[in-house]
Amino acid sequence: MRLATFERGSMRGFGRVEGDRLVPMGHDLVEYLATGAGAEGPAIPLAEARLLAPVPRPGKVIGVGLNYRDHAAESGQPVPEEPILFPKFANSVIGPGEPIVIPPEVHEPDYEVELGVVIGRTARGVAVADAIAHVAGYTCVNDVSARDLQFRGSQWMRGKAIDTFLPCGPWLVTTDEIPDPQALSIRLLLNGREMQSSSTAQMVFGVAELVAFVSRTMTLEPGDLIATGTPPGVGFARTPPVWLRDGDEVRCEIERVGSLTNPVRAG
Ligand code: ZN
Repeated sequence: MRLATFERGSMRGFGRVEGDRLVPMGHDLVEYLATGAGAEGPAIPLAEARLLAPVPRPGKVIGVGLNYRDHAAESGQPVPEEPILFPKFANSVIGPGEPIVIPPEVHEPDYEVELGVVIGRTARGVAVADAIAHVAGYTCVNDVSARDLQFRGSQWMRGKAIDTFLPCGPWLVTTDEIPDPQALSIRLLLNGREMQSSSTAQMVFGVAELVAFVSRTMTLEPGDLIATGTPPGVGFARTPPVWLRDGDEVRCEIERVGSLTNPVRAG
């Protein structure tokens, strides 16, 4: 299933996308993931719905740093021996088509296409073999990063946790439709030009390992989001560097998941 959170007029809810239709299924996608609670309504044209981030207010957003070998190399960093985790928060989450707003304090805004993992069942100390059973599905994520702020201190939060710096969507594709999350092509286009192109097969730590690793120290709950790291081709590693600018358009594409497009605006 493709599960989308949407607005239509004064109505807000979630539903499943079937071709060019959207079948409303209830009020809150996270509640549905946790309890199965929902109420099906008559289908509406998908074009009449404004899609939001699948989980607009996740309880936790966990970023994973340097999780593609080639990206670690282009960053001049060793391939990590354990996952590198950093926080983002709900203030960063925006949906498809919503602008990424660059605050005046940020001079080096960069893009990062990533496979987003949405938790469906509470996970605490789960084994790698059981980890995917706790995942609801996958979405496209753009881990927008202010490199000037990210690299100014000893950790990354200031450059990562900025308002609007986490576009997500266009929907969540449930795990039954993606039996192998480590075999998906993933790419990013900036103003139509391909900047990142890889496969989730290149991840250092796969989805199951990440969920199990995080759950050893943090309880993962329905709606929590893990951004699983970005492949090579980011702006700061280019010569000359490429920064997001007012008027740009960023498009993230992941095979079997979908595509997510956002404009960039100066704040
Ligand atoms: Zn990232």
